[in-house]
Amino acid sequence: MSRATTATIHIDALRHNLAQVRQLAPNSRVMAVVKADGYGHGLERVARALEGADAFGVAALSDAERLRAAGLSQRIVLLSGFDEPSDFAVLRRLGVDTVVHHESQLAMLEADAASDATAEPIRVWLKFDTGMHRLGFAPAQAADAHARLQALANVADDITLMTHFASSDDFDSAQTRAQLKEFSDATDALPGDASLSNSAAVLGWPQAHRDWVRAGGALYGLSVVAGKTGADFGLKPAMTLSTRLIAINRVAKGERIGYSATWECPEDMDVGVAAIGYGDGYPRHAPPGTPVLVDGQRTTVIGRVSMDLMTIDLRGLGNARVGDAVTLWGPDLPVEEVAAAAGSISYELTCSITRRVRFIES
Ligand SMILES: *Cc1c(COP(=O)(O)O)cnc(C)c1O
Repeated sequence: MSRATTATIHIDALRHNLAQVRQLAPNSRVMAVVKADGYGHGLERVARALEGADAFGVAALSDAERLRAAGLSQRIVLLSGFDEPSDFAVLRRLGVDTVVHHESQLAMLEADAASDATAEPIRVWLKFDTGMHRLGFAPAQAADAHARLQALANVADDITLMTHFASSDDFDSAQTRAQLKEFSDATDALPGDASLSNSAAVLGWPQAHRDWVRAGGALYGLSVVAGKTGADFGLKPAMTLSTRLIAINRVAKGERIGYSATWECPEDMDVGVAAIGYGDGYPRHAPPGTPVLVDGQRTTVIGRVSMDLMTIDLRGLGNARVGDAVTLWGPDLPVEEVAAAAGSISYELTCSITRRVRFIES
């Protein structure tokens, strides 16, 4: 029999979440961000479910290859931009837009234009750094960078202007207000569509929606807003991670559970062993007290999470049986809550699911 550990991907939830994002940003086009294998949900599966999106955002050209091979013909945007001149042929062959965020990329485009006057134009998203200090041209360089791109025959005329927020998950963030102002100061005089909003800005910063929103987490039903789950914003979780109990053991008071004997039984008690561990992507650093469901009833992790197994407190679950379903997260146990207990965010948990987990769709 195959291992019971499964990630069930809820296709209806993905579709519902896209509709919800459209409702929240009714005047914007929606780029569905599907990087990191669709936040761990499966790139092709997610893209097919979200085929109603206006574009897909990826972090790697290999993901764009996979989307085209799967027959998806939407616009695709390479969010971190190309790395080297040989990428141009791939962008053209696949018909993929690229972000341009750095002087070195401008120079590569200029050299490409100089070497081939008939090269097919590439569509560009010009990125400005308005305060995140990761990727993008300084606002003071906006007009110059834009003019250099416009002068190139190998760059398409409709240049989209973009930036990325550092703190939009705080709906009252002074930094986000400052980034909004930096962006308009830099770009108000330039032609082209504007794109600023990630999921948190879709949820909390309507003034930032503009022409294109770039939603990732929200489409998977995930929230990065402190203390809130996706459901608080009308989103539905797109993943259930589950397994089964493969043993129940009676352990005496004072005995210690698992590696390094970190958890001591305060009384004689039943301890459940579930077939999932960090080898499946469940966070090893999830401490005792992290919630899990056994046959739908809430209890907690005890002891250290190991590679293939974890141990569960079965006190108060009188009816637990070997073979019972164990839910690590899903519609009945928000992944945000598990992430908070494990000192992480929901995105990292879904992204970390490994290849040995069986994926099914529902
Ligand atoms: C990942 C990413 C997004 C999506 O962010 P979410 O918080 O998942 O919505 C948007 N824009 C860029 C540039 C990104 O890298």
